[in-house]
This record gives sequence, C-alpha cells and structure tokens, in this order.
Amino acid sequence: MNVLKKMIANTCPDCNQALLCDHDAISYTKACPQGHYKEETYPILGVKIVFDAIK
Ligand SMILES: [Zn+2]
Repeated sequence: MNVLKKMIANTCPDCNQALLCDHDAISYTKACPQGHYKEETYPILGVKIVFDAIK
C-alpha cells in the first residue's frame, strides 16, 4: 500500500513541493514547479507517462 500511496502522491519526489495540476481535453498533467517531475495521464487511452528528474 505504501508503494501505491507514493505513486499517487501529489508532491514532488525530489523537493516535496505540491505538484501543479493542469488538464485539457485529453490529458491530465501534474508537474513540480521546479521542473523535477512531471506526469501526464490520458484516461481515454489508459496511459500514464511519467517524466522523472527532468532537468
Ligand atoms: Zn521538485
């Protein structure tokens, strides 16, 4: 359960700041304001893309 909790956390795994959430017609985006982390979810495709430790 801890792993699941971590996967859906809304804070940056690097700096622990709250992620900025955004969405458009086909996707949801959560991103660290410092650019450490970003994830995009496409519900209609069942796809989640995670960009970890982007510089
Ligand atoms: Zn961060």
